[in-house]
Amino acid sequence: MLKTFPKGGIHPADNKLSANMAIEPLPLPVSVSIPISQHIGAPAEVIVEKKQKVKVGEVIATAKGFVSSNIHATVSGTVTKIDTVLDSSGYKRQAVTIRVKDDEWVDGVDLGDELIKDFDLTKEEIVRKIMEAGVVGLGGAAFPSHVKLAPPKGKHADILIVNGVECEPFLTADHRLMVEKPEQILVGIDILKKALDVKRVGIGVEANTPDAVKIFEQLTKDRDDIKVYPLQVKYPQGGEKQLIKAVTGQEVPAGGLPIDVGAIVHNVGTVFSVYEAIQKNKPLVERVVTITGKSLARPANFKVRIGTSVADLIEAAGGMPEDTGKIINGGPMMGKSLSDVTVPITKGTSGILLVPEEETRRGKVKTCIRCSRCVSVCPMGLEPYLLMTLVEKKLDERARDEDLFDCIECGSCNYICPSNRPLLDYIRLGKKVLK
Ligand code: SF4
Ligand code: SF4
Repeated sequence: MLKTFPKGGIHPADNKLSANMAIEPLPLPVSVSIPISQHIGAPAEVIVEKKQKVKVGEVIATAKGFVSSNIHATVSGTVTKIDTVLDSSGYKRQAVTIRVKDDEWVDGVDLGDELIKDFDLTKEEIVRKIMEAGVVGLGGAAFPSHVKLAPPKGKHADILIVNGVECEPFLTADHRLMVEKPEQILVGIDILKKALDVKRVGIGVEANTPDAVKIFEQLTKDRDDIKVYPLQVKYPQGGEKQLIKAVTGQEVPAGGLPIDVGAIVHNVGTVFSVYEAIQKNKPLVERVVTITGKSLARPANFKVRIGTSVADLIEAAGGMPEDTGKIINGGPMMGKSLSDVTVPITKGTSGILLVPEEETRRGKVKTCIRCSRCVSVCPMGLEPYLLMTLVEKKLDERARDEDLFDCIECGSCNYICPSNRPLLDYIRLGKKVLK
């Protein structure tokens, strides 16, 4: 029987419209705006000036502190602006705008397709190179990857779990990467294994991507250290805690981290970027992004230079459909609405979803009928109706006591509620108030 997490979960229609679309490079845009804070932690510090000429891969902002990340020029050309731009958070943040000229890379980056398996770096050298390359978690959280490779004193990872579960409906970027670059991902796994000094690896993949499961099973059939876990299709199977539970059977304690149960989780996209950073000397300047939507002419998976606008991506996919009512950064469950198409693609952008107007209308909010469906689907064992009520009544501290901060914001409660209660909106509000 396929493994999964035991508590809650839902089964939204998967709508993987771009599942069979091979990754293609997006044509270079006229200009890019690269935010200097695309990661969890301190924003990087800009080190270029206006009118300066830059090459692809050149550092334009350096990490400020350990929990921070370098930012690189993702195109070659001239710096035209160092100013604030609207980003996907809805706020204006500092960004470096570069007008594109040619496609000139810094020396030493291997742009060829040849698979390079061997590496002889020490553990410390691997971590340093990953840090220098600006690699962050590409599953959405954008946590600097080198930090995850340096567990706190007294803690040690026993297992590296590779997250190949793309449980958000519509998104297919990770799926395509697994199907098209599995050998590179395996080399990335070996690099991370060495950096973490772990003996065991679990690759978690949902059963609705059987081609990816088959490829990894085939490629790892002679390896005792790597096990592929085909997982039941259930949302949010890709949540870190849900994945750990499904693969190891262990539960990350409330308020705890995966390392508390000896696990470190890296998304497949991140693992591929680790391969490129170490074996190709290539910093994180581009990523695979799904552009999708039911009315879109050509749902696709593009390799996109960071800083390219959402508008450029939509254009390449056939243009904005007339009936578009909402543009979402991410998937329909956890993604956030964008107010403007000038917003740049960042390291954490896995997909852009265009939702037709008629599907954006929220049903009328009705009284809670105490059906407890929100409780039954919550993968964290919370009582969403209660959390919403407490936040609504400004009893935020009580909400904290009811484990408000354990909410992973998966949106399953919202999805299932027959009274259309905006449960997650209130939970997010409560967290903001208490922070
Ligand atoms: S959004 Fe939070 S409260 Fe709602 S189901 Fe997900 S984890 Fe539970
Ligand atoms: S699912 Fe909606 S109506 Fe049912 S208990 Fe939860 S909040 Fe109330």
